[in-house]
Amino acid sequence: MTSPADPTAAQPRAAQARAAQPNGLGVTFGLLGDEWTLLLLRVALSGGKRYSDFRDRLPISHAVLSGRLERLVSEGLLERHVYQVRPERSEYLLTPKGSSIWPLLLAIWTWERRWVTSHSYATPPIRHLTCGNEMSPEYCCNACGGAALPESVTLSWGPAGGWDRSTPGAHTRRRAAHSGRSESSAFYPDTMTVFGNRWSAVIVAAAFAGVRRFRDFEAFLSPPPIVLSERLTALCTREIFEQVQLVDRSDWSEYRLTRKGSDLFPVLATVVDWSERWHSEPEGPVLRRTHTTCGAEFRGMLVCDHCHAAVRGHEIDLSNA
Ligand SMILES: [Zn+2]
Ligand SMILES: [Zn+2]
Repeated sequence: MTSPADPTAAQPRAAQARAAQPNGLGVTFGLLGDEWTLLLLRVALSGGKRYSDFRDRLPISHAVLSGRLERLVSEGLLERHVYQVRPERSEYLLTPKGSSIWPLLLAIWTWERRWVTSHSYATPPIRHLTCGNEMSPEYCCNACGGAALPESVTLSWGPAGGWDRSTPGAHTRRRAAHSGRSESSAFYPDTMTVFGNRWSAVIVAAAFAGVRRFRDFEAFLSPPPIVLSERLTALCTREIFEQVQLVDRSDWSEYRLTRKGSDLFPVLATVVDWSERWHSEPEGPVLRRTHTTCGAEFRGMLVCDHCHAAVRGHEIDLSNA
């Protein structure tokens, strides 16, 4: 992939105005960079509606669950519906924006099943209802149907792009109290290494854009150095990154995506797909993406590996998920 932020072609974030408002992608990273967002949406997508559905299926405390449901309502992913007045009882229904997150969950699920073998939790197969097979969906170009791989999708910044705007804003910082980290970290630790923190996903995205050295991550993304160091270590521990010592510069090392890390491409790309749909910017796209195989502007879709049909949200059986 050519980089959206060819580090040599873009101004380091440090050199830019620090007060830049996050663009749609930055907002999306902030929203997903919370350890509970995806877990709560997964429960909702598999039919959970009531407070007790979420509480019973997640190791989450009352304070954290209430706060996160409220946040998902304010972000427009869930809608609170009062179904009984006295005593008041409500349920949380997915909005179109919330339910359209399913390709991301499906991409994550596929990645977990492929790469995370030492599960202390189950990741049962997902069935494609259209053909009846257990599927392992493939990420493809929706113009030509060809495979979408890191090397076949070129990226450049659009009018709303830039690293300074594509990182989560400071206001999305997780409060230290009620973060619930110790509760959620036992759940999908590999996925949570990528999404359980507001910096992690953007660090992985930067790696797909060709950023490799500590000081470049620091210059483009401007995370607190201690946080960057901690996230890079966590990504190496999960074998998403590997630290490679450069032969010609013994004092330099690089962080490179492993095969397991590169296989996160559909996951990160579906984040961009979703972000463009729901957090579009008036001045134009954050990223311009081109599928080099067909030359069309790139938009992704998940395709069933058995019947080769594009998968749609209502055609997957998530009841075991
Ligand atoms: Zn194509
Ligand atoms: Zn199928």
